[in-house]
Amino acid sequence: MPGLNLITTINYSPNFQVKKRKKSEIKFLVFHYTGMKKEKDAIKRLTSKKSKVSSHYFIKKNGEIITLVPNSYIAWHAGVSAWNKYKFLNKYSIGIEISNPGHEFKYTNFKNKQIKSVLKLSRFLIRKYNINSKFIVGHSDISPNRKKDPGEKFPWKYLSKKNIGYWHNLNQKKLINYRSKNVSDFEKNTFIENLYKIGYSKNLINKNTNLNKILTIAFQRRFRQELINGKIDKECILICENISKKYK
Ligand SMILES: [Zn+2]
Repeated sequence: MPGLNLITTINYSPNFQVKKRKKSEIKFLVFHYTGMKKEKDAIKRLTSKKSKVSSHYFIKKNGEIITLVPNSYIAWHAGVSAWNKYKFLNKYSIGIEISNPGHEFKYTNFKNKQIKSVLKLSRFLIRKYNINSKFIVGHSDISPNRKKDPGEKFPWKYLSKKNIGYWHNLNQKKLINYRSKNVSDFEKNTFIENLYKIGYSKNLINKNTNLNKILTIAFQRRFRQELINGKIDKECILICENISKKYK
């Protein structure tokens, strides 16, 4: 079958669950950025026993794909997380770390070679495990209370055109007119309901914190990447409504 081979460099991490999982348990792709200044240090961390973190794949700045943990084992990349009716997504997911210093160290655009490798790797995994588009997520989608990665520079729109993850099909030029436009409380409530339909979870977030704001920021990082302010505006509402229809 074409497309069912993938060439990677092997550099195994000791951080994984010894018990194998079933192929049918693999339902998610989770994208991350490393959030470290130096790529070498990120690889070191993901392969050192002390850190207790790992991922299945690592995509270097030059596009090279490293296998850290074989897919049949659970890697430790998602932590406390939820999406749809799933919790603790390590068990159900394949974690892909992409080298990028992240928000803490001058967040940069992902390299073209990295995105090419994201494409190649995702296509391979989607075919092999029959991954549904609604289960292709970023770390900030599933842990919105504590994570920003892979961040607003991750090219979700481009990837969706290659059938990797969902995006809206609204006219971008028209949408801009609705940016920062005020909305009613009723519309805000509908927006939040639509977020839950998409898969965002309210269960991770302490009731004392501003749940709606945290979820809105996560939504914007993913689906309205030009302005991330945690405010529900008319553009967010339109995008969210459009996207929620795909997540049935
Ligand atoms: Zn992450």
